[in-house]
Parts: sequence; structure tokens; C-alpha cells
Amino acid sequence: MEEISVKTGSRIEMLDITSQIRSAISKSGIQEGVCTVYCPHTTAAITINENADPDVTADIMQKLNKMIPLHENYRHFEGNSDAHIKSSLVGNSAQIIISNGTLQLGTWQGIYFCEFDGPRARHVWISIK
Ligand code: ZN
Repeated sequence: MEEISVKTGSRIEMLDITSQIRSAISKSGIQEGVCTVYCPHTTAAITINENADPDVTADIMQKLNKMIPLHENYRHFEGNSDAHIKSSLVGNSAQIIISNGTLQLGTWQGIYFCEFDGPRARHVWISIK
């Protein structure tokens, strides 16, 4: 298992971590297999989406904030229930096929670390098999 460090700069953001995942795959030397990208946090998530137009990630975050506002009748004492809910909706992992030693992503796809309760120092676990 590989671990990469992610430093987020605001409460809510999507960070493109594709290049760090590509580096881990080339370091592993694996030619054919599957890469699992896992987020071990309850207020963050992993997703794959467009990395060409930055307005796409801005729209995703704007819509999530509209659907799941920061303040509502939540019970959780920490005051970050919106982040826990967003984390569960987006999901904590992604699997990507590796072929010819290359991550098989579509032309416009990137792998994102989604921060919902930053800024924080975070980790992402990567398993390459
Ligand atoms: Zn909490």
C-alpha cells in the first residue's frame, strides 16, 4: 500500500490528485491490474470527474452545498454533519484499471480528493494489484 499526503486549503474543495496516483503506479512497476484509491476520512471523499474545465468541480461543490447546507437541524455535536453527509454521498474510494502500466482514465477524467471540512492535512491510500 502507498500513502500520499494531501493538504487542503479551504473548507470545501476538490483537489486533482491524478499525477500523484500516476507516479505511484509507475513506481510500482505493475503493467496490468487495478488501482484502488481510498480516502480514510469521514469528512472527505474520492471521485472521478472532468479535469478540463474547472467550472465542473465548482458546479459540483456549489450543488452539494445547496443540497446539504452547513447549518440545519443536525444532531452531531461537532457541527460538521454536512461534511459527513457529503462524504457518504460522494464515496470514499475509486477503482481504476491499469493497462500497459498506464492508468485507464477517459480523456477528460481526473481523480479528485474532495475536502468537505478543511483546511486539513489528509492522507489517501493507494493499493495497486
Ligand atoms: Zn464530525
